[in-house]
Amino acid sequence: MSRPSPGHRPATTPSGRPRASFPGSGLAKGLAVTLRTMTKKTVTEQYPDVQPELPPRTRGVIGLFEENCTVCMLCARECPDWCIYIDSHKETVPAATPGGRERSRNVLDRFAIDFSLCMYCGICVEVCPFDALFWSPEFEYAETDIRDLTHERDKLREWMWTVPAPPALDEGAEEPKELTAARRSAEKLADRQAAAPDGPAAPREGDA
Ligand code: SF4
Ligand code: SF4
Repeated sequence: MSRPSPGHRPATTPSGRPRASFPGSGLAKGLAVTLRTMTKKTVTEQYPDVQPELPPRTRGVIGLFEENCTVCMLCARECPDWCIYIDSHKETVPAATPGGRERSRNVLDRFAIDFSLCMYCGICVEVCPFDALFWSPEFEYAETDIRDLTHERDKLREWMWTVPAPPALDEGAEEPKELTAARRSAEKLADRQAAAPDGPAAPREGDA
């Protein structure tokens, strides 16, 4: 037998007789509910006339920062939906110094994400070891043709413009090593340009 919830007034007395109610009590209760609801803050959002205020780290769409991608394939391997498509080929880079060794590197031919399959788990963004994938809060990319939900690398790159800037570092926090390396390279390049007798020196490999 189910127990009555607290505050619930049974329709019958303990002896089983119908409980007396005064005429119009139901109407009064209904009006009380209406008044209570009218005075509460509304939660309805008038989308699309009014854009929702989303947290900056909302999982809307994934942007690709292609320059950071080394085609390691980790994101495609870890994606539980197998909806990341990557094609690449190998290229041989000549030795940087005389007598040095040639290097081989992967060159990206295709990078696409099928957002009709993606379940927005964020695993690809988390596992990318080179910070090439980012969440953007953009969500207005519905399509009438499901095939258009496969975003190719150009479109994924465009989403990067909508990725919010990272939050500021805490006071006294160590500078990220990427920033330190970029600053040192820029300083070295500036020194070389200043020392060059005839015009600015071209950047060398390893300055970037
Ligand atoms: S968010 Fe999850 S499902 Fe979507 S592409 Fe990344 S790993 Fe795959
Ligand atoms: S995990 Fe990152 S670096 Fe590796 S293929 Fe995916 S996006 Fe590129």
